[in-house]
Amino acid sequence: MQIDRIIYPVKTLGPGKRIAVWTIGCTKGCFNCSNPELWAADKSKDIPVPDLYRYLEAICSKNHVDGITFTGGDPLEQAEELLALLALCEKLTGDILVYTGFKIEELDDRTVNELSRHISCLVDGRYEEQKNDNKSPLIGSTNQRIFLFKEGYRDIYSDYLSKGRCVHNLFYSDKLISVGIHNKDK
Ligand code: SF4
Repeated sequence: MQIDRIIYPVKTLGPGKRIAVWTIGCTKGCFNCSNPELWAADKSKDIPVPDLYRYLEAICSKNHVDGITFTGGDPLEQAEELLALLALCEKLTGDILVYTGFKIEELDDRTVNELSRHISCLVDGRYEEQKNDNKSPLIGSTNQRIFLFKEGYRDIYSDYLSKGRCVHNLFYSDKLISVGIHNKDK
């Protein structure tokens, strides 16, 4: 699976202290996407799913991890690898959040079924700059939807959503990156 970076701890892409995984590859071309450098597929950054899982498992074994967030890029542009990884990651945490630029109606039934079995939360839809209301800490624009598949996480996500936006600046590979949902007039 093509992966750009994996960072722990991230507190601005879902509740608690999370591992965040940025996948490579997205063909949606949303205006003012916050990660256009991840649009182009890059086979040189392909990592086998079992290796990825072992890496995530190692982070979880040494740290308190509240959840894992997959963002990108669009993780579901590598659907087969993602679904295989999600089935494994379920052993690490019950709270897995996946971002996708697809609307849920654009995904096939098997993919939706697998997601609803293995993850707690899906955020769907392309980023639409004119619908960015500078408010939600989980979605970039109001056309995007939050699907909570595990009832047990409702209160945790409600609490996170009530706190408003927060962006965390950090150094990664000698670059300053800004992690979180950004305001339109950033
Ligand atoms: S779907 Fe997400 S990653 Fe893809 S272009 Fe739109 S905002 Fe960027």
